[in-house]
Amino acid sequence: MRVDVFTLFPAMFQSPFAESIMQRAMTQGLLDLRVHNIRDYTIDRHHVCDDMAFGGGGGMVMKPEPIFTAVESVLKISESHDTVVPIILMSPAGRRFSHKIAVELAMRPRIALICGHYEGVDERVRERLCTDAISIGDYVLTGGELPAMAIVDAVLRQLPGVLPEFAPKIESHAHGSLEYPHYTRPQVFRGWAVPDVLLSGNHAVIEKWRKTESAQRTAAALEE
Ligand code: SAM
Repeated sequence: MRVDVFTLFPAMFQSPFAESIMQRAMTQGLLDLRVHNIRDYTIDRHHVCDDMAFGGGGGMVMKPEPIFTAVESVLKISESHDTVVPIILMSPAGRRFSHKIAVELAMRPRIALICGHYEGVDERVRERLCTDAISIGDYVLTGGELPAMAIVDAVLRQLPGVLPEFAPKIESHAHGSLEYPHYTRPQVFRGWAVPDVLLSGNHAVIEKWRKTESAQRTAAALEE
């Protein structure tokens, strides 16, 4: 899967994608991540990417020109935006990211993610360039970089071959429920023992316990 990320802070993506499962997926060719610096698509001498908001109010707004130019040239699309690649703006006002959306996006061979910063992005980017806008939760972050990373990570886990063979096939949220608790050695830590049932060796009983724990956790989360 190819993911094109458009950002003013490309260095933020280096470390998370140089570790663990994301790094391995890239080495194996399962994820082709390209991070593009929006600033490289400015045409003025000072590479300006933001400006004051029309109507006043504090904070700078990301200008539309470099974002349009960056996305159109990387995706090789014309002004009519004849593309099947989802172009997704990171936005607190977008639809709420979920397991379902991660699965949907994982079915696409290619997606593009645009990271906002400052006070936000000129609305014409959302209206005229993007096909979607996604929020990763009801809070405001400094920029769209962390949301984009969270989305890539969650989508990546849905791609065949990314998770190791022994990884559980059903994780939290996959079917509207939360996973059961996990324990490992030591069997007793600071006097806290793991549940006896997990040491019983009886797989049917363990399975039943896990289902019950999963149901209880899910019900508790729904009550919150
Ligand atoms: N002034 C904006 C508002 O109140 O909605 C917040 C702008 S935020 C400081 C800058 C950028 O961070 C946004 O344009 C967006 O790209 C990103 N961002 C912040 N919170 C986000 C969230 N919860 N989900 C997705 N993107 C987010």
